Amino acid sequence: MGETQRNDRRRALLIAAPRLTAWFAANRRAFPWRESRTPYKVLVSETMLQQTRIEAVLKYYERFMKAFPTLRALAGAPEDLVMKHWEGLGYYSRARNLKKCAEICAEHHDGKLPETYAELIRLPGLGPYSAGAVASLCHDEAVPAVDGNVLRVLARFFGDARDVRLPEVRKEAEDVIRAVLEDGLVSPSLFNEALMELGETLCAPKGKPQCECCPWEKICRAHAEGREEKLPYRSAGAARAVEEKTVWIFICGGRIALEKRPNTGMLRGLYGFPMTEGTVPDAETADTVLRDRGIAPLRVLPFGIAKHVFTHKEWHMTGYLAETEKPVPGFSYVTAGELANSYALPSAFRAYRDRLAAGR
Ligand code: SF4
Repeated sequence: MGETQRNDRRRALLIAAPRLTAWFAANRRAFPWRESRTPYKVLVSETMLQQTRIEAVLKYYERFMKAFPTLRALAGAPEDLVMKHWEGLGYYSRARNLKKCAEICAEHHDGKLPETYAELIRLPGLGPYSAGAVASLCHDEAVPAVDGNVLRVLARFFGDARDVRLPEVRKEAEDVIRAVLEDGLVSPSLFNEALMELGETLCAPKGKPQCECCPWEKICRAHAEGREEKLPYRSAGAARAVEEKTVWIFICGGRIALEKRPNTGMLRGLYGFPMTEGTVPDAETADTVLRDRGIAPLRVLPFGIAKHVFTHKEWHMTGYLAETEKPVPGFSYVTAGELANSYALPSAFRAYRDRLAAGR
């Protein structure tokens, strides 16, 4: 994009800003993280919102903040407990980074998040979006906070048909917002939050945008050209790799075996059901596989198939329930109650946990 086009965009956004912030002031939704706002509340909510819609986040947010009301509380909590309170949100590395960030802040920043974007971006788990959100929303620093919602709104507003996955498209969105904020005519906090709100409500990703209610209805290029449902353009990502797995539900004396996953790889450091690579096709073969490994099952039953989709790969799982007389070495055995209440089981294993709970 040339200099002239960049300037045109900056001017257009500058002119559009007051309508957006006025709309936001009148239509702002109430959320717990907006009440008596603190940087910690913004960080936790924005980290959760990167992966889940607001309606779904509310209950997780309340539960998490009740357990860890301050950065210091989060820093001092056992990691397994933090994971348990993140259960259901997925992307456990985000929770782990949030805890690491809390530990650094407890040790080096008097238990508070630093105030500037430059310092925030150096903390674990804070990328340009979350550092920008904390710095602008809490300290009115003139920095952008560009996520998928903001990219969509800008692609429509400017009628930009380029691929929003391209790094230069994101960078240009950040640059134009920064230029508008640095002009000093609009509050960074108000403008950034208003843009996010527009992308979460009227200019949402699914369904037809509600242009008739939008403060930019008369000045939005995509709407003027009838292209609002065609934008943004997003190229297809690389195909996800499929991995075949066999999940083992070992039961001994009514207790269930859990395995702490290694500290590297997928779902690292979390508890899950024991798993081996590849598909074991039937219960008879499963029985043989276990005996070959020195495990003598009393009985082996098929326990269904399940699929879990991660961002870049899919697990196609085949489950077997194997009752044993003695615990299989190397695993922790827990009661059904402990499994439900004390262990953060990643959603990849949820189908098998639910089948166990339902007695199937
Ligand atoms: S007019 Fe429609 S497409 Fe344009 S920003 Fe508003 S809601 Fe989105």
